[in-house]
Amino acid sequence: MDIPGMIGMAGALISGYAYIPQITHLIKERCSAGISRKAYLLWFVSSALITMNAIWIHAIVFTLLGVIQICATGLIFYFSNHYRGQMCLYHHVVEKER
Ligand SMILES: [Zn+2]
Repeated sequence: MDIPGMIGMAGALISGYAYIPQITHLIKERCSAGISRKAYLLWFVSSALITMNAIWIHAIVFTLLGVIQICATGLIFYFSNHYRGQMCLYHHVVEKER
C-alpha cells in the first residue's frame, strides 16, 4: 500500500476508535442519554449507501471507513433503541440539575 493509502487507513481506524467511548458507555451502563436515534439511523443508512459506492469504485480506504461507520452507527442505533429511556446515575443527576 502506498503512503496516501496508509494515511487514509490511519484516518479510517481513528474514526472507528473515536466511537469506542460512546458504544462502551451505552452498553456497559445501559445509558442512552443524549443519543439521537433518528440521527444514528440516518448515519447508518448514509454509511451503507456510501459504502456501496466505495465498493463499486474499488476505493479501499472508503470501504473500510464505511464498514466501520456501518458497524458503529448500527450498534449505537440498536442499543440506544434497546435501552431507550434508560440512563446511568451520572446522566440521571445531570438531567435533574437542568
Ligand atoms: Zn450515562
